[in-house]
Amino acid sequence: MHISRPRRVAVLSVHTSPLAQPGTGDAGGMNVYVLQSAIQLAKRGVEVEIFTRATSSADAPVVDAAPGVRVRNIAAGPFEGLDKADLPTQLCAFVAGVLREEARHEPGYYSLIHSHYWLSGQVGWLARDRWGVPLVHTAHTLAAVKNLSLAEGDTPEPAARQIGEQQVVAESDRLVANTTDEAKALHELYGADPTRIDVVAPGADLTRYRPGDRDSARASLGLNPGEIVVTFVGRIQPLKAPDVLLRAAAEVISRRPGLPLRILVVGGPSGTGLARPDVLIELARSLGITAQVTFLPPQAPQRLADVYRASDLVAVPSYSESFGLVAIEAQACGTPVIAADVGGLGVAVRNGETGLLVQGHRTEDWAGALESLVTAPKRLAELAAQAPRHAENFSWEHTADGLLESYRKAAVNYNNGTGPSDFSPRRARGLWRLRRTGGVR
Ligand code: UDP
Repeated sequence: MHISRPRRVAVLSVHTSPLAQPGTGDAGGMNVYVLQSAIQLAKRGVEVEIFTRATSSADAPVVDAAPGVRVRNIAAGPFEGLDKADLPTQLCAFVAGVLREEARHEPGYYSLIHSHYWLSGQVGWLARDRWGVPLVHTAHTLAAVKNLSLAEGDTPEPAARQIGEQQVVAESDRLVANTTDEAKALHELYGADPTRIDVVAPGADLTRYRPGDRDSARASLGLNPGEIVVTFVGRIQPLKAPDVLLRAAAEVISRRPGLPLRILVVGGPSGTGLARPDVLIELARSLGITAQVTFLPPQAPQRLADVYRASDLVAVPSYSESFGLVAIEAQACGTPVIAADVGGLGVAVRNGETGLLVQGHRTEDWAGALESLVTAPKRLAELAAQAPRHAENFSWEHTADGLLESYRKAAVNYNNGTGPSDFSPRRARGLWRLRRTGGVR
């Protein structure tokens, strides 16, 4: 066991690949988090192997994603057409793939497991017991939190997910939370021991997301240099609430005829309800603002930086957000953010300094806040000037340092036997039985 830093970490990301294009389907901030934190860990000398589910017959079993970062595509269930809700049926196949891979190496090949999202936590819990190494878990989102602030018509997360999350919380050596609010939720709603939670903020790739020339960014996207551009970036789903922005924009346009406002929506379908961008196209039509709304498909990071630079304001109206990477990336590019005051957005945006936080999702509140910014270029410029400095507090380098500290504490807990339930009679009995029958090395 390497107490200072692990030699090799098995990162589990069952439901979505770090190599998928974020901003559509099930791919979003978590994919970016898993890949970017792995790259930074590898730069610090920790090898990272990311296990994910193969979703295409074209997926090679092993892909070297970056120096020191290897992605293992595990065959578990059909490549395509498996709904996220059906993923629990494939956990056994996935865990078998992970255990078989480890069994091909010498004992101690992986020094630590870091699981992302509760499905991976379930796999990590079993691998932890088999390999005798600590488990660190990041929830990213929590059913109990999400269900407290559902968008209208959105489907609540099933009780089974919450039970699964609860088990992972109980079985992890350490939990990583994005914010102190998430740490509080883990403690209050899931009974997590607060001394076993580490708050580690996610980041942005500050080499890619940095201020740049607005006019050339607009030209590259075919946007009019004279318009006021307000942009939504993300998966198009009810939770992300792009409809809140469209309704508010329609209200502002009706109050201010002639205001050259353009709403840019960047992202692809995901989940239920608003899943089809068509629904937003129809909404724009019914609001009478079709001519003022532009839709773009999901963009690769280098193009996305131009999207942020081309925008006067980025809107993040989500009903629930564990952090909101888009808000940090936009500010890093020198663009202020108008965001719902939920979850991590209260940390990601400095209200009144780098953007505005809006309470609730009522059209009149959003229209008022939006109008106060898009009609005040001087105010927008002041917010824009402060945004990059705030964003500098959030980098993947910082995140990796925080994770390494959490890994160190996990190893200490584990070695001291102060992990979650290592030495509970129930577990000790179970392991003893397995050992007697030669089931555990
Ligand atoms: N993203 C992207 N291209 C797009 C839209 C989004 O690469 O067209 C990325 C974006 O850069 C961000 C992530 O997807 O890093 C979304 O993360 P966020 O935390 O904002 O939302 P989540 O998807 O986790 O709910």
